[in-house]
Amino acid sequence: PSSSQPEFDYLFKLLLIGDSGVGKSTLLLRFTSDSFEDLSPTIGVDFKIRHVTVGGKKLKLAIWDTAGQERFRTLTGSYYRGAQGIIMVYDVTRRETFTNLSDIWAKEIDLYSTNQDCIKMLVGNKVDKESERVVSKKEGIDFAREYGCLFLECSAKTRVNVEQCFDELVLKILDTPSLLADGSTGLKKNIFKEKPPETNSSSAGGCCSY
Ligand code: GDP
Repeated sequence: PSSSQPEFDYLFKLLLIGDSGVGKSTLLLRFTSDSFEDLSPTIGVDFKIRHVTVGGKKLKLAIWDTAGQERFRTLTGSYYRGAQGIIMVYDVTRRETFTNLSDIWAKEIDLYSTNQDCIKMLVGNKVDKESERVVSKKEGIDFAREYGCLFLECSAKTRVNVEQCFDELVLKILDTPSLLADGSTGLKKNIFKEKPPETNSSSAGGCCSY
C-alpha cells in the first residue's frame, strides 16, 4: 500500500482468550494465513494482521494471541487495553475449558477490558471431533445468552465457521458507534503510524465481502 492513501477506514484490536490447547493459535493462523504481517518480536505477544472489507469499510484487524502466557494466568491490562472485540474460545471436547470461561476468563475480561461496549464472542472449537464432544451446543447458547455475547461453534482444523466467527464479531463492532469513535484512535497511538479517520464513522453494516 502506498503511504499517501489511508490504508484502512478502521483499525480494530481483537483478542483471543481461553485455556491453553483450545485452538487459539490454530484459529488465528487459519484466519490470517493468506496474508499476514507477523509483528510479534516488536511487541512481545503473538499478533497477526488481516485486511478485510466489511459493509463497504476497509478494516485492518490486529488479532492478538496470548503466546502461551494464558497457562500462567499472566495476561495483564496491556493485553486487553483498547480491544474492540474479544473471542472467548473453548474446546467442545474438554469441559473444563468451558467452565473456566465463566470461572476465570469472563472475570478477567470484566476486570481489564477498557472498552465498556467491547463485543464478546463465545466460540466452541473442535466440532470436527463430534464423537468426543462433551459440551453441547445448547450449553454454549445458554452461556452466551447469560453473558450477553455472540456464539458460534467452529473447527479450526476443517475451517468450518472460522470466517464467520470474525465476520459476526466485526459486523457487531461496526454497528457500535462508541467503539468506532474511541478504540481505533487509541490503538493507533500505541502501535501503528497510520491515521484512521476519526469522525463520520457510525453507519456501517450490510454483508461481508472478503
Ligand atoms: P492454543 O494453545 O489455544 O493456541 O491451541 P493450539 O492452536 O496450539 O491448538 C492445540 C491443539 O489442538 C493443536 O494440536 C491443534 O492442532 C489442535 N486443534 C486446534 N484446533 C482444532 C480443531 O478445530 N480440531 C481439532 N481436531 N484439533 C484442533
